[in-house]
Amino acid sequence: MTTKIIYFTVHGKLERAEFRADCSAADVKDLFRAAAEVGPHHILKMYNPSGSVVNISPRLEANSTESCYRLEVVASDLQSVSVSPQLDNMEYRLHHLESKVLEDVGKSPDIICELKSQVESFKRKLESVKNLSWMGLFKEDGHQQLSAFPPKPKRPQTSEQEERQQVRMRFLNMSSLQVTEEVREHLKTPIFDNWQWEEAEMLVLLQVMFTDLDFLTAFHIELHVLQNFLFQVYCNYNNIPFHNFQHCFCVTQMMYGLIWLADLRNKLGRIDLFIMLTSALCHDLDHPGYNNVYQINAQTDLALRYNDISPLENHHCAVAFGILSKPESNILKNMTSEQYKYIRGGMIKCILATDMARHNEILNKFKMIQPVFNFTNKDHKEVLMKIMVKVSDISNEARPMAVAEPWLDCLLQEFFNQSDTEKLKGLPVTPFMDRDKVCRPSSQTNFIRFVLLPLVTELTEMFPCLEQHILEPVRRALEYYSDMERATEEEEQEEGGPKP
Ligand SMILES: [Zn+2]
Repeated sequence: MTTKIIYFTVHGKLERAEFRADCSAADVKDLFRAAAEVGPHHILKMYNPSGSVVNISPRLEANSTESCYRLEVVASDLQSVSVSPQLDNMEYRLHHLESKVLEDVGKSPDIICELKSQVESFKRKLESVKNLSWMGLFKEDGHQQLSAFPPKPKRPQTSEQEERQQVRMRFLNMSSLQVTEEVREHLKTPIFDNWQWEEAEMLVLLQVMFTDLDFLTAFHIELHVLQNFLFQVYCNYNNIPFHNFQHCFCVTQMMYGLIWLADLRNKLGRIDLFIMLTSALCHDLDHPGYNNVYQINAQTDLALRYNDISPLENHHCAVAFGILSKPESNILKNMTSEQYKYIRGGMIKCILATDMARHNEILNKFKMIQPVFNFTNKDHKEVLMKIMVKVSDISNEARPMAVAEPWLDCLLQEFFNQSDTEKLKGLPVTPFMDRDKVCRPSSQTNFIRFVLLPLVTELTEMFPCLEQHILEPVRRALEYYSDMERATEEEEQEEGGPKP
């Protein structure tokens, strides 16, 4: 196996990296992280001499000093989210202490008030540091003008709205033509690494998905309307640890990959593909970070509005059609009324199918029809479309470990936030969300073994070509977490038996 030599600049200095072509993507990334002197949560980006972003992987093309790449360090989003649950936990404990003291003495003593104001000011500081670190970590060097993407604007502390407008400007100033053929091909596979891209770039990649599936010509969608639609979708995802715009991007990208890998372009109608991709894009719009069980137990407005029936999924779908009701972002506006009706019905079914409470119902239906599946049967097609959206939604573990693992931390953070709030409000606490009870590896082995694996196994029965792309990585992830689970158990036994 040959070694590859890559020349690149980082922080303005020329560097040389050497690795074997058969080493893992994670190793290559670690190598470049070390060169940039940053930690595992930083996002690295590699630009080729023509200024396009290239994928950091063992497939990176070898070059010479004359054609060296440029490595840049951008924001570390994970870092900011990983601090927030700790802060929430601190706030929770403080509230708890305060209520205890109030019970005993009837009045908050000065020391509690002092602690509260310290937590508040720490929180404010963190929020501003998040913006500052984004700026501080971004190294501008003399080669900036080489980038085909416009330089990032200087970002003073801005409101969320201003920040979004900046993303919009960057998105509109980029051209999908700047996305290289290599990235376009990569986008069609589950090994695509979402952590390398910023929000504006993800919007461009989403635009590429719509254009490369020929949706614009097939449904007479004007480019600026598609761009407005995508931007509105981005704006309607919340800044929460897991169910955020990046999750939306990943789910849509997986759906896009499945469409190509399973050759669905030759099996389903263009309109069905449109329904699946758009449903993936909209499936978690305005997710508040607290699940249906919480909505129902806390009797939130959403639970009241939807009578406890899939409150979140109903809401995601309603927000989607809210965006589509505005002419400037209505990508359905040039369709016939039959097409509109068909798409609306399909999207509602697909988005409502993402409620995990309905997992077994939908999987069992698919199991029944799978052996006699017929692409001309409307009911069969409908179940398949739901299954595709469901697989895309929960398929992180089909991705390379280096891409999938940070997602687990994000999910646990969101779970812990919920269980902390549940404890604070005296609501029932879901055991798999309780920070005192969750064991990271066993939560994964159970999820993969009982939920994800049966789902992808069934899909692979229908599309055997998905085995190497989806089923095998999921099996490997199960092995990985099972090994970790065993190691944890052994450790516990050495420490004197499992905890009660
Ligand atoms: Zn989701």
